[in-house]
Amino acid sequence: MTQPLLRIESLRVDFPTDDGVVHAVDGVDLEVFPGEIVAVVGESGSGKSVTAMSVLRLLREPPARVSADVLTFRDHDLRTLSPADLRALRGGPVGMIFQDPMTALNPVMTIGDQIAEAVLLHQAERDRRAARRRAVDLLGLVGVPDAAQRARQYPHEFSGGMRQRAMIAMAIANDPDLIIADEPTTALDVTIQAQVLELVRKAQRETGAATVLITHDLGVVAELADRVVVMYAGRVVETAGVEALFAQPRHPYTVGLLASLPRMDIDTDELNAIPGNPPNMIDPPSGCPFHPRCPLARERCVTERPGLREVAPGRRSACHYAEEVGT
Ligand code: SF4
Repeated sequence: MTQPLLRIESLRVDFPTDDGVVHAVDGVDLEVFPGEIVAVVGESGSGKSVTAMSVLRLLREPPARVSADVLTFRDHDLRTLSPADLRALRGGPVGMIFQDPMTALNPVMTIGDQIAEAVLLHQAERDRRAARRRAVDLLGLVGVPDAAQRARQYPHEFSGGMRQRAMIAMAIANDPDLIIADEPTTALDVTIQAQVLELVRKAQRETGAATVLITHDLGVVAELADRVVVMYAGRVVETAGVEALFAQPRHPYTVGLLASLPRMDIDTDELNAIPGNPPNMIDPPSGCPFHPRCPLARERCVTERPGLREVAPGRRSACHYAEEVGT
């Protein structure tokens, strides 16, 4: 059987604050296999971005406290890699695309030089001129017009959508095996979003990289993902293939997320947002953390925490009553 490229078991991330410890990620398990696109979805505060950032140890530790039983990329134990080895992974075998490209781009360096630097950092055998040519090719590949000329410009001379394209070019510059894309379209306007999504898909096809796509947007999930991981209150509450998840969700939270999607086929202005608010992660609810918002909740849910269990082949749900959901 194919081995997972990325394996996470029992990941926990805590942030001590003046008000108490925020349990941002509370025992997440996740496997990503070569070539697949896994979407991690949930409301803001569900722990999805913190999970993604923990993979390459991008959180500042301290204050963050990160622990896991297993955290591996290929045969690298990410818990014990040196900072230099982690840097060698980032932008090399693991490409990253963030919501805000300005955090990833250097404002005082031309776009072309930044991409060429990324190439040289991981492909030392290339000379500088070859790296610059590769930068221009990559910009062309991600749809930046007049790539040779635009490569000489600085990030502030690029629009938001073009900066996102440049960051995608950097993420794929070294033919990664894994791409982590954290809300890649959230900061963009709707027409540009579609183009950038298409580009993420193209980047994935060009490189054959497995992709972890962090998003709160189920429309994006339906477009791109093979498999979906739904997070709530720092935990995984459901995993399924994308078609199965949309056809029949097996966790009441997923049902709520799907119901809040605008429907083209129903003439209504009402959006069915999930009632209530995400929990306070300093003092999360007892039992199932979703129970204060769950229409199926009963006594057992208040006292007993549901584990993530297989409810059908390839499907897992963390609900005591998963078999009743959607029936
Ligand atoms: Fe709802 Fe109970 Fe299932 Fe939690 S365990 S999702 S509260 S029915």
